[in-house]
Amino acid sequence: MATEQLLILIKPDGVRRSLVGNILDKLSQLRMAIIGAKVVKVSRKLAEMHYYQLKNKPFFDELLDYIQGKVYGEPYDRVLAFVYQGEDAIARTRKVIGITNPEEADPLSIRGAYGRITTKGMYENVVHCSSDLLEAEREVKLWFRPQEIIKDVYATKKIVVDKEEKIVWD
Ligand code: UDP
Ligand code: MG
Repeated sequence: MATEQLLILIKPDGVRRSLVGNILDKLSQLRMAIIGAKVVKVSRKLAEMHYYQLKNKPFFDELLDYIQGKVYGEPYDRVLAFVYQGEDAIARTRKVIGITNPEEADPLSIRGAYGRITTKGMYENVVHCSSDLLEAEREVKLWFRPQEIIKDVYATKKIVVDKEEKIVWD
């Protein structure tokens, strides 16, 4: 078994319905380590890049609105993003999370317990989880900078950026 890292998102419906504690509790049974965590207000661009493989699906626009939390608005239009690390972490997490369709997911899984299908047919399934090693690496790198993760998980390099504007504490 190999140590793997993956991206887990608590989607805006999970935030809106105050399920953060319930979801983290169910994940804790896997005894993985959290090596990165933050709250993210998702831009359209980030949403598009995250779900680029689904861009030809009829529900793509709605999916972008969903992951951006547009229907919920302030202060729920955000996701919680985590990088977890553990042995065989991806397959084990997918199992605890359940399959994509919340009505068909194991009722004891996160999606089975908390997800729903909207009247428009969108699967509001409260969490996202990378589905394989390649996707995990792409997604972790998309959502997190190297300095935001407390372990070296992927190769990095140093670059010098001229005239970069930075916001720092006053
Ligand atoms: N989705 C949906 N209807 C579908 C397929 C997907 O609403 O028929 C949504 C759902 O929220 C899902 C997300 O699009 O989590 C991404 O789809 P994917 O096939 O990658 O499923 P996942 O990897 O999240 O299980
Ligand atoms: Mg997927």
